[in-house]
Amino acid sequence: MPGIYIHIPFCKKACTYCDFHFSTSLKYVDEMTDAICKEILLKKNRITDQVGSIYFGGGTPSVLPAKNFEKIFDTITKNFSVASDAEITIEANPDDLNAMKIAELRKLPVNRFSIGIQSFFEEDLIWMNRAHNAAEAEDCIKRSQDSGFENLSIDLIYGYPLLTDSKWLSNLRKAIEFQTPHVSAYSLTVEPKTALASAIKKGQQPPVNDEQSAAQFITLIDQLKSGGFEHYEISNFSQPGKYAIHNTNYWRGIPYLGIGPSAHGFDGHIRYLNLANNALYLQHLQQSKLAETVEVLDEYDRFNEYIMTSLRTMWGTDLTKIAADFGAHFLGDTLKAVKPFIEKQWLLNRDEHLILTQEGKLFADYIASELFLIKDDHL
Ligand code: SF4
Repeated sequence: MPGIYIHIPFCKKACTYCDFHFSTSLKYVDEMTDAICKEILLKKNRITDQVGSIYFGGGTPSVLPAKNFEKIFDTITKNFSVASDAEITIEANPDDLNAMKIAELRKLPVNRFSIGIQSFFEEDLIWMNRAHNAAEAEDCIKRSQDSGFENLSIDLIYGYPLLTDSKWLSNLRKAIEFQTPHVSAYSLTVEPKTALASAIKKGQQPPVNDEQSAAQFITLIDQLKSGGFEHYEISNFSQPGKYAIHNTNYWRGIPYLGIGPSAHGFDGHIRYLNLANNALYLQHLQQSKLAETVEVLDEYDRFNEYIMTSLRTMWGTDLTKIAADFGAHFLGDTLKAVKPFIEKQWLLNRDEHLILTQEGKLFADYIASELFLIKDDHL
């Protein structure tokens, strides 16, 4: 079933490592809500099937007042058929999840929080310039669970200089203790044009240590697996079968509507990308115009995207699908390209599916890039 992604482009503070699209000025929250509702209306014919997931990402969606969510839900339910068991997620930061906010969100159709914990250590959160503190990180999980939000995912980060191996172990043990159905863990990447990249360039921060990051990735897999979690995608773990529906559909190439500044959407063939600029996005929508650019994907784009996303999952890359959807020459080239990785035992061919081994997971992006096909090579 298709999904709807809604980007809420506001944050209280700018985290040092972040290159997502957001503004720290919350002045235009109401105008943005109206523009989002207008965009939903303008795009309502792009999805005719029943919607299986709605995902509010950002930015920090939890900064939005409940009445604004209500307006968006109203627009969605008037214009789409939403499955009664649809997964409806709000990305939330711990400082927003106070008792009153949780109670307000309980009255809405939301049934899942994805909480940006990142670390349970105060000094780490200060280093990241997060808006929340260590006490809020723990309290908000407990408070959400006690209020009936059982379907929680928590985000953690590893591989940053302050995170010793023993602190990482402690963060993971705490995450396991909370027994949330889902955990996402990301290795810190230094994106250009972030405060962190500039501090490293000036020598004010040490660069990221790849060996430390790789070792912490192995600890992550070992700890969460022994805590009962399935490692179903490079950065994602869930209790058995409790996969994130929205993300899993995205990796499977199922269409989704993208709403809000910087959001992208996909209809099976065409990908569209909204302007990553709040003022320009508002201007367009206030004139009832879409603020998007459209990219028509050729078979090479679709093949490379399939490799990139499928290889990262525990289900792997389906060779039968490659033959059926892309043809014999794509399959032949793939089988040739995977040989060295199978010999190195970074990849397995299990029942016509290419699956990363534990060691291969350390090189997932590199392996995928080596399997990409370029149109010119086939001309
Ligand atoms: S809260 Fe999330 S989106 Fe906002 S600055 Fe921090 S990491 Fe980026």
